[in-house]
Amino acid sequence: MRRRLVETIALKGISDKNVLDAMGKVPRHLFMESSFIKFAYKDQAFPIGAGQTISQPYTVAYQTQLLKVVRNAKILEIGTGSGYQAAVLLEMGARVFTIERQQELYVKVQQVLPQMGYHPRFFFGDGYKGLPTYGPYDGIVVTAGAPFIPEDLKNQLAIGGRMVIPVNNGDHQVMTLIIRHDEKEWEKQLCGDFAFVPMLKGTN
Ligand code: SAH
Repeated sequence: MRRRLVETIALKGISDKNVLDAMGKVPRHLFMESSFIKFAYKDQAFPIGAGQTISQPYTVAYQTQLLKVVRNAKILEIGTGSGYQAAVLLEMGARVFTIERQQELYVKVQQVLPQMGYHPRFFFGDGYKGLPTYGPYDGIVVTAGAPFIPEDLKNQLAIGGRMVIPVNNGDHQVMTLIIRHDEKEWEKQLCGDFAFVPMLKGTN
């Protein structure tokens, strides 16, 4: 079933072999709520508790492809959620720092992920602020719909670093790629429409 899911996302346009290989390895069914396990290899988002969702596999693949992850890259994820996106990045050999603002999900993911052999660095907090202590990052991936591009995150990108962030536009989000070229120069590319749960302020 997982192999078929990978074929589906490849047909939808994902071409980065490292992304497809990683998604072929991560056991998505172990990230699902029990009532949804049978749907784990459908290309859809599903509820994970606390009003949040595990992202659609195509969306995870699309964001990861835009990041251009190389082995040992330092990646910051905003919105740990189920931990699925973090697991895909770890499969690609990245060093992953991930922030979650929902206490319930933050506690749960720290039990589940290490049991599968995935060891990102987990942080509880408000992703708008990023994680300056461990920066700068080669990549930053925001997995919730942001009302704007947080300055703090732009400043935590390494020179040459890439940030993939879905930015609100009416009832959907525009996938936005930010590339930092210099101390004071960032390039912005718009990469299509997606649907995300909202990026919220503060912690719960
Ligand atoms: N990457 C997750 C997707 C989870 S959905 C996965 O693979 O399963 C988005 C997540 O972002 C939710 O868990 C939500 O609680 C979290 N989130 C929303 N606003 C946030 C913020 N300001 N800081 C950190 N996490 C946030």
